[in-house]
Amino acid sequence: MSHHHHHEHGHDHTHHHSISSNLKVAFFLNLSFTIIEFIGGIFTNSMAILSDAIHDLGDTFAIGSSLFLENYSQKGRSKKFSFGYKRFSPLSALINSVILLAGSLFIITEAIPRLLNPETVDARGMLYLALAGIFFNGLAVFRLRKGENSINQRAVMLHLLEDVLGWVAVLVGSIVMLFVNLPIIDPILSLLIAVYIFWNAFKNLRQVMHIFLQATPDDVDIDKVKSALESLEEVQDTHDTHLWTLDGNYNILSVHLVINNNMRLSELAELRMKVNKKLKSYHIDHITIQFEVPGELCELEKH
Ligand SMILES: [Zn+2]
Ligand SMILES: [Zn+2]
Repeated sequence: MSHHHHHEHGHDHTHHHSISSNLKVAFFLNLSFTIIEFIGGIFTNSMAILSDAIHDLGDTFAIGSSLFLENYSQKGRSKKFSFGYKRFSPLSALINSVILLAGSLFIITEAIPRLLNPETVDARGMLYLALAGIFFNGLAVFRLRKGENSINQRAVMLHLLEDVLGWVAVLVGSIVMLFVNLPIIDPILSLLIAVYIFWNAFKNLRQVMHIFLQATPDDVDIDKVKSALESLEEVQDTHDTHLWTLDGNYNILSVHLVINNNMRLSELAELRMKVNKKLKSYHIDHITIQFEVPGELCELEKH
């Protein structure tokens, strides 16, 4: 499973215990299977199995970090981390992407020479490992199907189904190699899997970098936010509008609002309520407003 499946956790405290014990089981199953795959890949001399091992290493890391983060995010804000610990989630996604990019690049550089000089592989061993892979991932799919169908879980399901498909490809390849002497099938499968891992890791890395570089989140239109604010009759102008995301889910807005000269503090409080109401549908979780009067000299006044 890649990082984005694990953003939401621990909201419902009654389910908290079962979620984390499910994750623990998933973590140890994935970890043991990853180790089996690495050893199996070396013994069968199969690059395709090693590609899958790299993939499952990423899955194990993602599950492990979400287990770790689940406890961490409970800690809330601290003096040192005034926004809380939400950014540890994209941080672990960043580390995972780098592991997957390096791992898949390694597989690609090892598999390409084998296209020219295919090495003999233990097709029977590959077949057993593929059956085990289908069994493990199929079991996980089956387990998840019983749970409630959140978007998060659907994403995990989809990923697990991809994993099963990868193993089915290895299964078919190993069966063919059992009957026909075509060892080139192994590096071909391996390259297909590794390129797929590389491409997904690259897409994840790009997304994570957007978070760290404080890009405007994709799910909020900053121009619409500005015009929604400017449509309020008390607001004459807006500037220094910043919209960014803490972890890909929790979005933060800060803005300067130029208002009439003669508003009272109680009226400002009402205006803040209006702003909150207006922006409710925009998926913004944290708003900071600076009120300014017309003609006030603001160093940050750039549109
Ligand atoms: Zn997977
Ligand atoms: Zn200003």
